[in-house]
Amino acid sequence: MLILGIESSCDETGVAVVQADAGAAPPRLLGQALHSQVQMHQAYGGVVPELASRDHIRRVLPLTQSVLQQAGCTLEQIDCVAFTRGPGLAGALLVGAGVACGIAAALGKPTLGVHHLEGHLLSPFLSADAPEFPFVALLVSGGHTQLMRVEGVGRYHLLGETIDDAAGEAFDKSAKLLGLGYPGGPALARLAEQGQASAFALPRPLLHSGDLDFSFAGLKTAVLTQARKLGPELQARRADLAAATEAAIVEVLVKKSLAALQQTGLRRLVVAGGVGANRRLRQQLDAAAERLGLRVHYPELHLCTDNGAMIALAAAMRWQAGLLPAGASGEGYNFAVRPRWPLAQIDTPTTA
Ligand code: ATP
Ligand code: MG
Ligand code: FE
Repeated sequence: MLILGIESSCDETGVAVVQADAGAAPPRLLGQALHSQVQMHQAYGGVVPELASRDHIRRVLPLTQSVLQQAGCTLEQIDCVAFTRGPGLAGALLVGAGVACGIAAALGKPTLGVHHLEGHLLSPFLSADAPEFPFVALLVSGGHTQLMRVEGVGRYHLLGETIDDAAGEAFDKSAKLLGLGYPGGPALARLAEQGQASAFALPRPLLHSGDLDFSFAGLKTAVLTQARKLGPELQARRADLAAATEAAIVEVLVKKSLAALQQTGLRRLVVAGGVGANRRLRQQLDAAAERLGLRVHYPELHLCTDNGAMIALAAAMRWQAGLLPAGASGEGYNFAVRPRWPLAQIDTPTTA
């Protein structure tokens, strides 16, 4: 089974080919290509939806050709075309969905509309050391921060989530306040390596709330207050403030992840989404795992942020789990997208 996957939910065009066998072996990535629009949007300080859609149109077919070449297969050999159905920007999603359905219709092959967060969540299955079900998933991306109990493919139970900003958003907004551009998460993390986290006492919102929810909006305000207080001194103290911000976000993520493991009695944690690339988060989770005899799995670094591989992979794993709709014939060529789509409602049917 060869699956072509197309991701276009936001500001990255990702395409990949994955091969899966009917069995339990994790699918294999045969080729992938990615175009990031970050530079294009930087001038505006955030993603401009219309520009994103137009750029996806420009990139998706050349990327597809390059991926097929890498994978050493032709379009005719593809058995299923997967695309991100949601959540994301409506116009951007429509480009990937339209192209995927067009290709599939021309080939007479099935399509599958994949949930973007299911893609993130399953991405560690492309790592050499793939996880086993069940596990707790910490999904930390630009738009989401959730803890889930995962029993198997498609069986996701929400344990807690952010009540305001996502962890990635907290990184990006704090980075912006420190003058680090957009999206500033990775830049803030780099700067933090040169700073002293203990130099500033920033709040750890909801750390002791007793539930598994998160809140990051107050942290951003605390960073803003500190930055204003520092005034002209900010420039010289930026690394310290970056380190303190990162430490606050990471501490909450680690503590709540450990609490989720304790609450569920599970001993395996899977981290996914862009913030999963953060080195401090990985170090602290690994240290806790070592201390407590737990296992932590991550996606490969280049698969933490948006990519086509995770979309092809999610489709492959759905196929392996017997979850392809309508007798594995796919969903026809209905390319309705779902810009808002909670993961817990993953298996509710799409209405065109
Ligand atoms: P969603 O998946 O929720 O729709 P998204 O697709 O925009 O959102 P991702 O691509 O998974 O999110 O991740 C992007 C986020 O990850 C950004 O907020 C970015 O700042 C953050 N990020 C990436 N690398 C790092 C890092 N090393 N440290 C901290 N944050 C990071
Ligand atoms: Mg992105
Ligand atoms: Fe994402």
